Amino acid sequence: MSSNGGPDDSGEEGPHPELCDFCGAVIPGGTVEWLALVRDSSAIHAVDPRLNGKRMLVGCSREHLARLVEQYKCRPFVAAELWAGKIMRALQRHPEGISEEDLAAETGLSAEQVQRAVMWHNIEARRWLEQYGQNEDDGHDGSQ
Ligand SMILES: [Zn+2]
Repeated sequence: MSSNGGPDDSGEEGPHPELCDFCGAVIPGGTVEWLALVRDSSAIHAVDPRLNGKRMLVGCSREHLARLVEQYKCRPFVAAELWAGKIMRALQRHPEGISEEDLAAETGLSAEQVQRAVMWHNIEARRWLEQYGQNEDDGHDGSQ
Protein backbone atom coordinates (compact mmCIF):
# COMPACT_ATOMS: atom_id res chain seq x y z
CA MET A 1 0.00 0.00 0.00
CA SER A 2 2.53 2.57 1.06
CA SER A 3 4.81 3.54 -1.74
CA ASN A 4 7.82 5.34 -0.43
CA GLY A 5 9.06 8.70 -1.50
CA GLY A 6 6.07 10.90 -0.89
CA PRO A 7 6.89 14.40 0.28
CA ASP A 8 5.39 13.53 3.64
CA ASP A 9 7.36 14.53 6.62
CA SER A 10 5.84 12.74 9.51
CA GLY A 11 7.26 15.21 12.02
CA GLU A 12 4.46 17.64 11.29
CA GLU A 13 0.83 16.94 11.77
CA GLY A 14 -0.70 16.17 8.47
CA PRO A 15 -3.68 17.89 6.96
CA HIS A 16 -6.87 17.36 8.93
CA PRO A 17 -9.02 14.62 7.50
CA GLU A 18 -12.25 16.07 6.25
CA LEU A 19 -15.45 14.92 7.89
CA CYS A 20 -18.80 14.66 6.22
CA ASP A 21 -20.88 17.46 7.76
CA PHE A 22 -23.96 15.28 7.43
CA CYS A 23 -23.00 11.86 8.80
CA GLY A 24 -19.59 12.62 10.33
CA ALA A 25 -17.81 9.96 8.32
CA VAL A 26 -14.11 10.57 7.75
CA ILE A 27 -13.37 11.25 4.13
CA PRO A 28 -9.94 9.71 3.51
CA GLY A 29 -7.38 11.76 1.62
CA GLY A 30 -7.47 11.18 -2.09
CA THR A 31 -11.17 10.38 -2.08
CA VAL A 32 -13.65 12.59 -3.82
CA GLU A 33 -15.39 14.91 -1.43
CA TRP A 34 -18.39 16.97 -2.29
CA LEU A 35 -18.27 20.66 -1.52
CA ALA A 36 -20.79 23.44 -1.52
CA LEU A 37 -20.83 27.03 -0.36
CA VAL A 38 -24.06 28.15 1.29
CA ARG A 39 -25.29 31.36 2.84
CA ASP A 40 -25.25 31.15 6.62
CA SER A 41 -25.65 34.21 8.78
CA SER A 42 -24.00 32.47 11.75
CA ALA A 43 -20.78 31.84 9.84
CA ILE A 44 -18.01 34.27 10.66
CA HIS A 45 -14.71 33.49 9.02
CA ALA A 46 -11.63 33.56 11.24
CA VAL A 47 -9.47 35.67 8.98
CA ASP A 48 -11.19 36.60 5.76
CA PRO A 49 -14.15 38.95 6.21
CA ARG A 50 -15.19 38.36 2.61
CA LEU A 51 -16.20 34.87 3.67
CA ASN A 52 -18.48 36.07 6.47
CA GLY A 53 -21.98 34.74 6.02
CA LYS A 54 -20.80 31.85 3.89
CA ARG A 55 -20.22 28.34 5.04
CA MET A 56 -18.33 25.62 3.24
CA LEU A 57 -20.09 22.29 3.45
CA VAL A 58 -18.33 18.99 2.95
CA GLY A 59 -20.16 15.80 2.14
CA CYS A 60 -18.94 12.24 1.73
CA SER A 61 -21.29 11.72 -1.17
CA ARG A 62 -23.38 13.75 -3.53
CA GLU A 63 -26.47 12.66 -1.66
CA HIS A 64 -25.23 13.81 1.74
CA LEU A 65 -24.09 17.11 0.32
CA ALA A 66 -27.51 17.63 -1.22
CA ARG A 67 -29.16 16.97 2.16
CA LEU A 68 -26.86 19.48 3.84
CA VAL A 69 -27.57 22.14 1.27
CA GLU A 70 -31.26 21.46 1.75
CA GLN A 71 -30.91 21.97 5.53
CA TYR A 72 -29.20 25.30 5.04
CA LYS A 73 -31.86 26.43 2.60
CA CYS A 74 -34.38 26.04 5.43
CA ARG A 75 -32.25 28.05 7.83
CA PRO A 76 -33.22 31.71 7.76
CA PHE A 77 -30.47 34.15 6.87
CA VAL A 78 -30.65 36.84 9.53
CA ALA A 79 -28.59 39.92 8.78
CA ALA A 80 -28.50 40.96 12.44
CA GLU A 81 -27.01 37.60 13.35
CA LEU A 82 -24.20 38.15 10.90
CA TRP A 83 -23.59 41.66 12.25
CA ALA A 84 -23.61 40.32 15.80
CA GLY A 85 -21.00 37.76 14.79
CA LYS A 86 -18.79 40.51 13.39
CA ILE A 87 -19.20 42.51 16.58
CA MET A 88 -18.30 39.51 18.73
CA ARG A 89 -15.16 39.02 16.72
CA ALA A 90 -14.19 42.67 17.08
CA LEU A 91 -14.90 42.56 20.83
CA GLN A 92 -12.61 39.58 21.21
CA ARG A 93 -9.82 41.71 19.82
CA HIS A 94 -10.58 44.41 22.38
CA PRO A 95 -10.98 42.72 25.74
CA GLU A 96 -10.50 46.11 27.36
CA GLY A 97 -13.59 47.44 25.64
CA ILE A 98 -14.25 49.60 22.62
CA SER A 99 -16.48 52.57 21.89
CA GLU A 100 -19.51 52.08 19.72
CA GLU A 101 -17.97 54.40 17.14
CA ASP A 102 -14.77 52.40 16.90
CA LEU A 103 -16.78 49.22 16.85
CA ALA A 104 -18.73 50.46 13.85
CA ALA A 105 -15.51 51.46 12.11
CA GLU A 106 -13.85 48.14 12.81
CA THR A 107 -16.77 46.00 11.70
CA GLY A 108 -17.71 48.18 8.75
CA LEU A 109 -21.25 48.41 10.11
CA SER A 110 -23.29 51.54 10.55
CA ALA A 111 -24.18 52.70 14.06
CA GLU A 112 -27.73 51.58 13.38
CA GLN A 113 -26.59 48.12 12.32
CA VAL A 114 -24.51 47.85 15.49
CA GLN A 115 -27.56 48.73 17.59
CA ARG A 116 -29.77 46.28 15.76
CA ALA A 117 -27.18 43.55 16.16
CA VAL A 118 -26.86 44.23 19.88
CA MET A 119 -30.62 44.13 20.19
CA TRP A 120 -30.77 40.87 18.28
CA HIS A 121 -28.07 39.43 20.50
CA ASN A 122 -29.93 40.43 23.66
CA ILE A 123 -33.16 38.89 22.43
CA GLU A 124 -31.35 35.68 21.52
CA ALA A 125 -29.56 35.61 24.86
CA ARG A 126 -32.84 36.01 26.72
CA ARG A 127 -34.48 33.31 24.60
CA TRP A 128 -31.56 31.02 25.31
CA LEU A 129 -31.79 31.71 29.04
CA GLU A 130 -35.50 30.99 29.04
CA GLN A 131 -34.84 27.70 27.34
CA TYR A 132 -31.75 26.48 29.13
CA GLY A 133 -31.22 28.98 31.89
CA GLN A 134 -31.34 27.24 35.24
CA ASN A 135 -27.69 27.30 36.05
CA GLU A 136 -26.16 29.28 38.84
CA ASP A 137 -24.99 32.22 36.82
CA ASP A 138 -25.01 35.29 39.02
CA GLY A 139 -26.17 37.58 36.31
CA HIS A 140 -22.63 38.36 35.44
CA ASP A 141 -21.92 38.80 31.76
CA GLY A 142 -19.78 35.75 31.44
CA SER A 143 -16.37 36.73 30.23
CA GLN A 144 -13.69 34.64 31.80
ZN1 LIG B 1 -21.92 11.51 4.77
